Amino acid sequence: HHHIDNATVEKVDAIIAAKHFHADIPDYEALAAYQANGGYTQLTTLRDGGDWEAVQATIKESGLRGLGGAGFPSGTKWGFVRGAEGPRYLAVNGDEGEPGTFKDRYYLERTPHLFLEGMLIAAWAVEADTCFIYMRDEYPAVLHILAEEIKALEAAGIVSEGFIDLRRGAGAYICGEESAMIESIEGKRGIPRHRPPYVAQVGIFNRPTLVHNVETLLWIARVMREGPEILNATEKNGRKGLRSYSVSGRVKNPGVHLLPAGSTITDIIDACGGMLHGHSFKAYQPGGPSSGLLPASINDVPLDFDTLQPLGTFIGSAAVVVLSDHDSAKAAALNMLRFFEDESCGQCTPCRTGCEKAVKLMQADTWDQPLLEDLCQVMSDASICGLGQAAPNPIRLTMKHFGEEI
Ligand code: SF4
Repeated sequence: HHHIDNATVEKVDAIIAAKHFHADIPDYEALAAYQANGGYTQLTTLRDGGDWEAVQATIKESGLRGLGGAGFPSGTKWGFVRGAEGPRYLAVNGDEGEPGTFKDRYYLERTPHLFLEGMLIAAWAVEADTCFIYMRDEYPAVLHILAEEIKALEAAGIVSEGFIDLRRGAGAYICGEESAMIESIEGKRGIPRHRPPYVAQVGIFNRPTLVHNVETLLWIARVMREGPEILNATEKNGRKGLRSYSVSGRVKNPGVHLLPAGSTITDIIDACGGMLHGHSFKAYQPGGPSSGLLPASINDVPLDFDTLQPLGTFIGSAAVVVLSDHDSAKAAALNMLRFFEDESCGQCTPCRTGCEKAVKLMQADTWDQPLLEDLCQVMSDASICGLGQAAPNPIRLTMKHFGEEI
C-alpha cells in the first residue's frame, strides 16, 4: 500500500506532456494537401488490380538500393519476402541514431505522406499484414506528425485501423540494427540476432519481414509517381542515382543535401557553400562513426556504396562530418569509440570488452599501435554484428592517415 502524493503524479504527468505534446511542430504537408497534389492515386491504382511484378520491375529499373546503410537492391528484397509463406510484416527502421544522421527527420517533418504512401505501396507489393514503424523517440515532432496523419489515413479509409503500428524506440543505437529492432518490436531487449536466417524469412514473430529505411520508402513513392528516371537518369563519376547526405561540421551551410550518388567530398563541401571562414579542410567522416575518418587528400572518390570499400570504409547512412585544422583526428576517433563503448549491446565479448579496451588505449598520449591492431583484428573477426565489426575502422584509419597525432 504505497502512497504516491498528487504533487508527484502531477510532476510526472508534466514531464511526459512536455516531452511529447509541447514539441515544436513544423509546417508540413498534411493529408488533404498531399492528396490535392495527386498523393495516394498510385496506391489506389495498384490496389485496384495492379501487377506487383511490374512494380518490382520499375523499382529495379530505378536502381534503388536500401538507404539505411547496407545498400541492398530494394526490388530484389521484395522478391525474397513475397516468396516466403505469409502472414508477412513490413517494418520501417526509423531509429535514426547514427551520430551525424538526420535525413529521415528532415523528410518526415516536411512530407510525411510521401513516406507513408511509399510504405503502403511496399506493403501492398509483399502483401504485408501489418506495418510497424519503429521511430526514434528523440524526434517528438515526427512522432506527433505520424500519429496525427495515421489517424487521418484511417479516417479517410485508406488504411484499416491498426494496419500501421507506430512504435517508439527507447534511445538505443543498436536498435537501428534490423534484427535488434525486430527483437525490440517483439517487446524484448534489443540485441542483434545471428544470421542466417535472414529477417526476410524469419523476422517479426518469426514471420517473413520486409525492412526498409525511411528514405528508401520516400523514393519508392516518387519512383512510382515520376518514373524510374527520377533516379536512374542522374549519372556522375560513373555512378547512377541520387543520395541524401546529412552534412555537419565546419561548413557554411550544413544540412541535408540531395546530390548525385557519384559526388565526392569536394562536391559536398561546395554544395554546403564551402568551409567556414577561418577553417581549412582537414578530414571527414564519410558515413557515420563506423566509417571513421578520411584525410582531406582523399577528395576525389565518389561517396557511394562499393567505392569506399578499398579505402577501408563505407558510406553507410551518408552522415558526413567535415573537420578542419581546428579539430583533432585523434580526439574525434576517441569520441567515436566512446560512442561504441556506450552503445555496445554487450551480447558478445569482442565488442563489449573490445570497445572498452580500445577507449583506454586511445586515451594514452602515444597509442600502442601493435596492441590496438591486434584488438581491431579480434573485434572485426569475432563480433556478432556490424557495430563491433566496424568499430575498429576509426582506429585503423586514424593510424593510417593521422600518424603524426597519435
Ligand atoms: Fe552487441 Fe556489439 Fe556484439 Fe553487436 S557486436 S551483438 S552490438 S556486443
